[in-house]
Amino acid sequence: MKKVDVIIIGAGASGLMCAIEAGKRGRSVLVLEGANKPGKKILMSGGGRCNFTNYSVDSENFISSNPHFCKSALSRYTQWDFLGLIDQYQIPFHERSHGQLFCNDSARDILNMLLAECEKVNVSIQLKSEITTVSKDSESGFTVKTAEQTISCQSLVVASGGLSIPKMGATAFGYQLAEQFGINVVKVYPALVPFTLQPDDKEKLSTLSGISVSCVVSNKRQSFKENVLFTHRGLSGPAILQISSYWKAGEEIIIDFLPDIDLYTEFKQKRAGHVKVLVKTLLSDWLPKRLVDQLIDQSLATSSILDISNQQIEQIIQAIKSWRIKPNATEGYRTAEVTLGGVDCSQISSKTMQSNSVPGLFFIGEVLDVTGWLGGYNFQWAWSSGWCAGQYA
Ligand SMILES: Cc1cc2nc3c(=O)[nH]c(=O)nc-3n(C[C@H](O)[C@H](O)[C@H](O)COP(=O)(O)OP(=O)(O)OC[C@H]3O[C@@H](n4cnc5c(N)ncnc54)[C@H](O)[C@@H]3O)c2cc1C
Repeated sequence: MKKVDVIIIGAGASGLMCAIEAGKRGRSVLVLEGANKPGKKILMSGGGRCNFTNYSVDSENFISSNPHFCKSALSRYTQWDFLGLIDQYQIPFHERSHGQLFCNDSARDILNMLLAECEKVNVSIQLKSEITTVSKDSESGFTVKTAEQTISCQSLVVASGGLSIPKMGATAFGYQLAEQFGINVVKVYPALVPFTLQPDDKEKLSTLSGISVSCVVSNKRQSFKENVLFTHRGLSGPAILQISSYWKAGEEIIIDFLPDIDLYTEFKQKRAGHVKVLVKTLLSDWLPKRLVDQLIDQSLATSSILDISNQQIEQIIQAIKSWRIKPNATEGYRTAEVTLGGVDCSQISSKTMQSNSVPGLFFIGEVLDVTGWLGGYNFQWAWSSGWCAGQYA
């Protein structure tokens, strides 16, 4: 039977980072990947340009049942460490809003860098290798079977990711393995995902398809200031993806379409100056006409701002700055960027990523119950957790 020091399940972001680090320590490392290519999600990320980290990373940017868990790994392998690697490979990148860092050319630069690092330390990557069974040996170590071979290892690292985008090779394998070893899995949900609408709303809002507006979107727990995009299926755009990670079925979300405008003062000043303008003309200075038509009742929209009551102004402000909508559902794992929930961090060491109850078994990346916001945080978590496990696996 073939023997290696470390088997890593999954050649994604976290698995490759862990492989590099374990390889640097002189460990023999085999990465088993079910798909026909490594790093498929890296390649499709950030619209092909991979938002690989963020200038500002804090535990506040992550969701977990155990919010302190991610702190240790994020502080031991930071965004600056990853930028150091990027610098070595002279990968050109740029900053977008909110400190998000993207490749100038292609996400392939990131994948090529990781693969080159793997090669330097003799990491083997075996593709199209679906694992059929994993068992713990009586002394120390594990036996892993694929359709073709049986391999034993001292350390087994589960880097199999979450459930999003099943056609890219996402499987529930990591969760099943955790359960096999008695490790709890926190209930999983699709996150960073567009919303679908109730049939009535969908029909009513169909005219808005393609409109994108900078908004503040909030619910009881969080709020995000970014763009909202109306689509033919429902609501999308960064602000919606962000709030989806905090959304519970049946809840309303609230959208402020003019977060930077004090509408009350605008109305007051214009009325005091006797500026004769229609409500919809005034609002169209800041918002697309189609959106104004949808948000404001037609008779009110076509009234002069001088002819409406204070109560009607309140009504307009309410409609624009506190628009409430109850999504029907999310689009699910088919389009979700990540999976919320996962392997329960309370049973994993935050320093080593090793299971507290099963020595030699490690979990890293998205399979854990750590979910980043949109903005490069999920990759930073993959790099940080993968790096930590690589020091001990
Ligand atoms: C469309 C899209 C865009 C994204 N854009 C960004 C972005 O710009 N920035 C950001 O930070 N995050 C982004 N994300 C999220 C990010 O891609 C993931 O959080 C990250 O890839 C997780 O890394 P991972 O190593 O845990 O898992 P993955 O990268 O998903 O890797 C897991 C690997 O395990 C393999 N695998 C699964 N089951 C098995 C099995 N049984 N046997 C063998 N192999 C198996 C899979 O094929 C896969 O290669 C995006 C996600 C999507 C879907």
